[in-house]
Amino acid sequence: MRIIIVGGGIGGLALAAGLRRHDFEVSVFDRDLDIAQTGGYHITLDGRAQAALQELVEPEIFERLLGSSSALRLRARDAFWDRHGRLLGHGPSLDDNPGVDIDRITLRTILADAAGADLQLGSPVTDIARTPTGAPQALLADGTTVSGDLLVGADGAHSLVARRLAGRATSEPTGIIGFSGRTAAGDLGAAERQRLGPRSSMVLGPRTTALYIGYLDPVGNAVLHTTGPRESVTTGPTYIWGAMFAESAATDALRALRGAELRSALLTAFDREGWRRSALEVIERAEPGSIGAFRFNAASTRARDLAPWPAGAVTALGDAVHATPPTAGMGAGAAIRDAASLVANLRAVAAGTVTLPVAVSRFEADMRVRGSEVLVAAMRTVGLMRATGSPLGAAATTAVAPVLAAAQLLAHRHRS
Ligand SMILES: Cc1cc2nc3c(=O)[nH]c(=O)nc-3n(C[C@H](O)[C@H](O)[C@H](O)COP(=O)(O)OP(=O)(O)OC[C@H]3O[C@@H](n4cnc5c(N)ncnc54)[C@H](O)[C@@H]3O)c2cc1C
Repeated sequence: MRIIIVGGGIGGLALAAGLRRHDFEVSVFDRDLDIAQTGGYHITLDGRAQAALQELVEPEIFERLLGSSSALRLRARDAFWDRHGRLLGHGPSLDDNPGVDIDRITLRTILADAAGADLQLGSPVTDIARTPTGAPQALLADGTTVSGDLLVGADGAHSLVARRLAGRATSEPTGIIGFSGRTAAGDLGAAERQRLGPRSSMVLGPRTTALYIGYLDPVGNAVLHTTGPRESVTTGPTYIWGAMFAESAATDALRALRGAELRSALLTAFDREGWRRSALEVIERAEPGSIGAFRFNAASTRARDLAPWPAGAVTALGDAVHATPPTAGMGAGAAIRDAASLVANLRAVAAGTVTLPVAVSRFEADMRVRGSEVLVAAMRTVGLMRATGSPLGAAATTAVAPVLAAAQLLAHRHRS
């Protein structure tokens, strides 16, 4: 059976690796010229995503992935702060959390190794069609066409394949725009390093402003005690942050800025909403070249709205079907789990126990449930952020935060 995959991102490469491992004929086409020339920061792989990866890739590849990852269980509990830098509370203990964080670039690079020669870079797909015999076909920008028994759109949130299947876009902007960057912990002043500590933090401000500060340390918090070289792009304790704002003409204009200019514009945007400068040091000290914009798109949270097409020889997975904002850290994991489900169903076709339409239908049913679950989780934070945009929400954020901060301070004094 020959499978054409449009898109060599996280889901497409995971699928290609799994199909290759089980001797299917695969071709993956991605428009990118260089696998490592991609944006993105850390990706969380929960226990289910790791189990899916173990099914998809050879043990040696899985070990390389873990060898470049940072263990969540070695992190201190997450902290919640107000915009003045006052502690509001902590998240649950991470001691038993099996999750790992990995740089998106490292994850994609290692998965590309697993996909091997089946990946063709610099190959944008311009449309899909059918051959005279009804086989699905991808039309490439260089004028060539490729056909197979199954075509899978793994082409991300603005998927061409899913749009052709659904007859409309499968996701829409959430009204929130994110800007991400990375800051080495060593570049912060001692007091801020002490305040943030070896943990991730979340700050929710009024009028749809928020700052997520993720902590990544694939060496100090190594998942595996390997003596071999680590492939991670992140080499020391690092904060990977995401500044979030409501989309407006003003925040949209920031997308045109780069480097130090964008960094200072972000600080000004927080200043306008009354954020204290000392609570923004992680942005102030960020590597200018690491800062980029990130528009949050989302699909419907309702399972029945996802993959709204009859099952057949063209399907899609990952963000193409259930575009998920990064607010729950589950989008990439869900795409990997989609890939494992599709491989398992196609193996049943190869074994002759089911037909291709039945296998695709089972895979899509499974994906609708999974997609809805991750979207509900991700949209909870988006909903909270939107709520702070109303006058009532802004007043509540301003009024409640000092009370929670004072309670934390008292609890801390009581302990020490
Ligand atoms: C640049 C970027 C950075 C991200 N950073 C983060 C992050 O820091 N943290 C986080 O939690 N999530 C991040 N995400 C989201 C997360 O990576 C996705 O939820 C997850 O990768 C979903 O996997 P996917 O395979 O469905 O889509 P993607 O990984 O987005 O892959 C889609 C692929 O399709 C290719 N493609 C699209 N259209 C075509 C076409 N017509 N022809 C050929 N190729 C095409 C794209 O080049 C891309 O490689 C990021 C996504 C992107 C695109």
